[in-house]
Order: sequence, then structure tokens, then C-alpha cells
Amino acid sequence: IKNDTAAVKEDQVDPHRQMVSVAVALPVHDIFTYSVPDHLIPQACPGKRVLVPFGRRTVTGYLMGPATTMDPPEIKHILDVLDATPLFPETLIPFFRWIAAYYMHPLGQVISTALPAGLNLTDVAILTIGDAGRQAMRLPSLSPLEAIVLSALVQGPADIKQLQKTIGQPVSWALIHAMRQREWVRVDRQIRGRQIRPKSIRWATVSGTEAISDRLSRQRQRIRDILRTEGDLSLPALKARAGTTPALIREMEKAGQVRTYEQTIYRDPFGDPIEPDSPPRLTTEQAAAIKAMAPLLGRGFKTVLLAGVTGSGKTEVYLRMAETALDRGLRVLVLVPEIALISQTERRFRARFGETVAVLHSGLSRGERYDQWRRIAGGKATIAIGARSCIFAPFGEVGLIIVDEEHDASYKQEGGLSYNARDLAVVRARHHGALAILGSATPSLQSWHNVTVGKYETAMLSRRVNRQPLPAIQTVDLSHIRDERGIHRYITPQLQQAIGKTLDEGDQALVFLNRRGFAAFPVCADCGQAIRCNNCDISLTLHKRANAFRCHYCGFSRAAASNCPSCSSEKIRLLGVGTEKIEEALVQMFPQARVARMDRDTMSRKGSIVRLLKDLKHRRIDILVGTQMVAKGHDFPGITLVGVVCADLTLNFPDFRSGERTFQLLAQVAGRAGRGDKPGKVILQTFNPDHYSIVSAKEQDFKSFFNQEIGFRKALGYPPFSRMVAVRISGKNPKRTAGHAGALGEHCREMLARSGSGPGRIQVMGPIEAPLSRIANRYRWQILVKSPDPNGLHHFVHRLVRCHHGLPDARQIKVAIDVDPFFL
Ligand code: ADP
Ligand code: ZN
Ligand code: ZN
Repeated sequence: IKNDTAAVKEDQVDPHRQMVSVAVALPVHDIFTYSVPDHLIPQACPGKRVLVPFGRRTVTGYLMGPATTMDPPEIKHILDVLDATPLFPETLIPFFRWIAAYYMHPLGQVISTALPAGLNLTDVAILTIGDAGRQAMRLPSLSPLEAIVLSALVQGPADIKQLQKTIGQPVSWALIHAMRQREWVRVDRQIRGRQIRPKSIRWATVSGTEAISDRLSRQRQRIRDILRTEGDLSLPALKARAGTTPALIREMEKAGQVRTYEQTIYRDPFGDPIEPDSPPRLTTEQAAAIKAMAPLLGRGFKTVLLAGVTGSGKTEVYLRMAETALDRGLRVLVLVPEIALISQTERRFRARFGETVAVLHSGLSRGERYDQWRRIAGGKATIAIGARSCIFAPFGEVGLIIVDEEHDASYKQEGGLSYNARDLAVVRARHHGALAILGSATPSLQSWHNVTVGKYETAMLSRRVNRQPLPAIQTVDLSHIRDERGIHRYITPQLQQAIGKTLDEGDQALVFLNRRGFAAFPVCADCGQAIRCNNCDISLTLHKRANAFRCHYCGFSRAAASNCPSCSSEKIRLLGVGTEKIEEALVQMFPQARVARMDRDTMSRKGSIVRLLKDLKHRRIDILVGTQMVAKGHDFPGITLVGVVCADLTLNFPDFRSGERTFQLLAQVAGRAGRGDKPGKVILQTFNPDHYSIVSAKEQDFKSFFNQEIGFRKALGYPPFSRMVAVRISGKNPKRTAGHAGALGEHCREMLARSGSGPGRIQVMGPIEAPLSRIANRYRWQILVKSPDPNGLHHFVHRLVRCHHGLPDARQIKVAIDVDPFFL
């Protein structure tokens, strides 16, 4: 693409000219009208990328369809159409628009989030020294910085980033513009961005008459014979077959003895082929679930929650439902949690359905992802399976959407477009009139609530396929061992004994400890209660600088030195122990055992998870220590014992969903034990053995958990009895960021004062410093807005964003909107 960004302004717009609307991949909320020059009209159709002038720049846009506004003030031409075939079907546009409105995110950026990465082109400013600049270098009045800039540009043109790097200091645009006015430098815009393209390989075919062959060398004759008898071959294949060189093929082509042509191929992300599987006989429960759900296919929008205990064979139910959908000509979308890149589900779908499966997840290279995407858009695949971004798979129509482990937190995207793929699955099903199946052993509170209010139907699988009982869970009360020293506080004699016994029997043990980024939680060592906020019932977190425990919802503060609010004990302990410490202790306790650790620190290298899981499967590991990474969906027959080091780490996590997460995590991690022939056992250590999250997890009874938790949510007005939006404010300057957050808070209070307090009341918490108050040198604040009325909430936040844009620091400070936030 050439450097041709001059906007074509038309004095008189021909009313018959084709006008289209375009969403640009920039943080702007409007859609813009462009005209299509005649030579591009045949290619300009919705779902393709276009290159458009925008202000002084040239950017990528998405063609949405015919223009909706007919007489915009100024019409510019589309400069180019970037795709030969549409990247997404027109039928997806209403879905994209819905997302943009609901998550308050610019439509163009919604679409770039949806599309495979590497498809955005933008332009950059290139600085070149002018003749006046060369002369100016001799001026004595030149400032030192001007002199440095000019002497750098004498070496050759550069964009501003390169320039700053060369001279080793920042250069402001104000300076550049001043130099430009004196014609010392020229500023041109150039299109940048390495575009992902379809990959193609060259094939050879015989050409010319049979008679030529007689006059040819043996080698050339042989090549023609091979191509004639075996059909066309790709050049690499021909080389392998006949030892040809590219030069030889070129010569033969020149002489008219062979002809070559290009053909696009799909990059193959699946290293090894998968053996086709044969479907097992369904259990009675599986058959009943399928019998209930199959008639719903192709009959309009409906959502079914498939609640099945761990190991009950939910995947087989998904496979049969997918098969039925395909038989009826319907497309199928399957979402699995992020960890599933390595899980069985994808492999099982491929084993059952072969070539017709496309996969989309972050484990693919950009090129592979782009090709999988095109296979779906081009109708080559009828099933798409993948992690959260697979919800955007470019099917024109979908008949069945499956969300496996629907409670899983990895469906929530953090940062950028903060969507929840589980929620979007239901929305997309509604748009297509499809059946949505949400499956889990531990359904989210939200989904089960939707069942109880009649929005979702249910199907149940209550027994494991192999008829193994669910593992027996034994709780060990940690508050009894508070006098123990060091690591024995965390690996109790009961746990130590159980691990020893497991190893003696030649089985494997999983030791689980949930430790997320946060430092430590204050817990009373006498009564076991966590120290919580008076207003929000959320665990407080230590703020070292203030030497206080703070609530990060509302800012409530309590001196770190104060006593336990429940029993007045002075012994407040900070709970905090890491997987590394536990691993060390286990190595000491069991010197003969092979101990491995699985957490973000050890698993950051690509392929390391796969290797570790392989070692575990082949019994090259005796004890695996891990974070929530180990809790999800894996199937290891050798594990007979699961030890939970401290259930309270999750329970006291400062988030209103901590009870729900504890229940889900414990029930899931317990589900890892006893999947083979031997029954499993779980040892669960906790300061709160009577907490309902723990008791329900022990019984694997999500309904009893739900019944208790829903009361708590209702009493405090948390979701699902309200909606929340987190307004996240961040900036590089601590003072200005705090000031900006304060101004927004002030504005909230003014709006509240005007709106009064009806039943759809809006509640504002904060602004407060975010729990992780500084990430990557940005200072972070947040305001939580909550209301039972989604529309009122939406308008409120809109007005708040408008206020932000009107504040003096709006350009330096970023305000991100997180609708239905997950981690607060
Ligand atoms: P879930 O997803 O509910 O935890 P899975 O679908 O992983 O359970 O099934 C657990 C195990 O049972 C898997 O190894 C699966 O192959 C096997 N399985 C599922 N359904 C059947 C069946 N009808 N007959 C025999 N084995 C089955
Ligand atoms: Zn106490
Ligand atoms: Zn609070």
C-alpha cells in the first residue's frame, strides 16, 4: 500500500454514488460515512476491512453496510478494500452492535477484538529533514534539542519513536510542528503494520504435448511422467519425490514443459493427527439429558443449564448434541475454559468430527488463527471450538452454542473490551435463535438463579460414569493447630500421614493452594474469623503505608493494630503462604518422592504445562503442588489424594464472590481425586470448617450452597440482585490521577443528589485506590457503581464518562469501563 492518504474532498457529492458506513478501529464511538470510488465498488461489501482517511491519519475500518446518514458534512473516499472475501458475515453485525452498547465500547474496537490479531493497519508519521533544515544546522540560534534532532534526521528519515531512541530523549510533537512550520522537517504519513495473509504454495502440472518428452533429458522426462501418472504435485512434494530444484522447474516452465500455479492452503495447527473415536453406549442419565435437549435444536432460542457432577460424562452429551445439530444442518459453537488448550475436550471433538472442526484459541500462531478463522467464515468448518474469543467465530448462523465449565473465570476478559464469553454465548444464541447449553458441576450462582426464576431450563447428571462414588472429604480444623511452628501450620499431621499412605500405595497426590496476587489477609488466630468491612462484608486488605486494613470496595479503614471485632483477641495473623514454600516442605518431608509444582511462575513457558501433565500421566511425578491451574477439568486416574492446604485463602479473598469461588474451586479440585479404579480422598484444611461454602463443597451440593449464598447476596444487594460497573481510572502521575478520580467521585455525588433515591437507586462506592494500586507504573483508582436497574446504571455511567472527557486531564488519564466486573 502506497503512501497516499490525501483525503479526497468532494464539492458536489453525486447522490448516486455508493455510500457506506464504516466503523474505524479507534477509540471513537461513532460510525462514519464514506463514498466508494467506482473501481472499488465491486469489492466493497460488508464484513471486509477497508483503508480510510480519518482526520489526518489513515486507519483500518470495517465496512458495515450501506450508509445510514445521507448528507454528512464532508465525504471522503475509501482508499482501499483490504480483503478478498468478508472476514465476518453481515449477520454478526447486530451482535457486535449489541456488545458495543452493552459494554460501552467503541464498535470498531469491538470488531478488532473479535477478529484474529494482526489485521490492523495504521499509519505513522515519518520525519524527513528538509533543505531549510540542512541550512538551519549552521544557525547559532539553534536550540540544543533542535540541533540534535536535525543531526539525527540528516542520517535518514525516521518515525518519532525511532528518533527518540536514536537521540536517547523524548521529543515533543510541539517541537516537531514548530520545526515543520519553518520547513526544517517534513512529516509524511506511511502505512505500517505487518499484515497476516493467506499462505499459498506452488503446484506443478504437465503442459505441452506428449511428443515433447522424446527430446528431453531423462530427469525432465521423469518429472513429466510423475506428474502425468500421479496428478499435480506441490513443489515441495515434487522435490521429495524426484529431487527437483526450483531452478530446474523454472527452466522447464520457460520451455513450456510444465506449468506452475499458486494455491492457498490453511496452516495446520494440529501437529499430530487424531485417531477417530467410536461413541460409547450412553448411560441412562446421559440418554435422558439428550432426549430432553435434542428436540430443542432448531426450535428457537433457549438456554439449558446442564448440571453434572465431575466425571458424569458431560462431554459425551455435548458430542451427541453437536452430532444431532450437524445432522440437522446447524452450525455448532463450543466454548471451553482457557486451560483447555491442553485439555481433552478439543481432542475429543476432533476425534469425533475430524476435518469439520475449527479451533480458535491463544495457543495458535497468528497465521494459524487467521486460517482457522477463514475456514469458519468460508464455510469449510461446521464446528468451532475454542476459548473465550471463539464466541466471535464468524458463522453466519449458529444452531447450538455449548459453554463447558460455564462458571469458569477465564470466560471473563480483563482489560480492553471486558466481555464475559459465557454471557455473550446466551446473547448470541438469542440473536441466532439457537440453543445454548451451559455445562458445569458447580454452576455459577448467576446461572442457577436464572434457573430458579424460570429463564433457563435444566438437565442433570447426578452420578459418575464409572459409578465410582464421589471422593470422601475430610476437613481438618486449622485453628486447633495454631501453636504449631513453621510449615507444620500448613501441612498438618493428618495431611502428612495421608500423603505418606498414598505414596506407600504407589498412588499420586495433588496438593492444592490458592494464592493470587494479593499479599495477605488478616485473620483472627483465636476465633478464625477474617477481619471484614462493616459496610460491605468484604475481607479487608493490609495497606502497609497507612498501617491499616482497608476495604477496597468502599474505602472503610481499620487500624492494623486493633483487636478482632468478633472475639477481641489481639492475635491477628496475616494469612499468606505460597506454593513454593509448600513444595520445599514436601521435599523435606518426603525425600524419596518426586515433587513438582504447577503455577503461573513455573508454567509460563510454552509447552511446559503439556510436559508436566504428561509426566503426571506417566507417573513420573508423585506429588503435584499447584494453584487453581490444577483444579480445572483434568482427568488423572492415578491421583487418589487431594490435599487443600488452606481453603480460607479463597474464602477471605476481598471480593463478594469469594464464597462462590471457594465452593467451586473446592468441589472442582475434589473432583480430581478418584477418577480411576480406586476411590479418592480429600483432606481439606481450614479455619472455618462450618462455613457453608466449605460444607457444601464437601457434599458437592451446589443447591445447598446456592440457597445460603443467595440470601447473603440479597441482603447486601450484590449481583444477581443488582448490576455493577467498575470504573477504572489510571494514570502515570499519582497526584493527577488521584485528583481526577476525586473529581469524578464528586460528579457522581452531584448526579446522585439530583436523582433522589427510588427503588432503582444507584449506589456509588469510592473512588478508592485500587487493590493493586500500581501496575506497570500506572496509578490505579476505581469507582464501583451498583444498581438494581440496569438502564439507570447504564445512563449514569455514560454521564460519568462524558464528565471524564470534559476534565482537564482527560488526555493523560485513562478511564476504562468494566461492565459486570468479575474481579474487583
Ligand atoms: P465430565 O466432563 O462430566 O467431568 P467426562 O465427559 O470427562 O466427564 O467423562 C468422564 C470419563 O467418562 C471420560 O473418560 C469419558 O470418556 C468417559 N465416559 C463418558 N461417557 C461415557 C459412557 N457413556 N460410557 C463410558 N465411558 C464414558
Ligand atoms: Zn477473633
Ligand atoms: Zn466496604
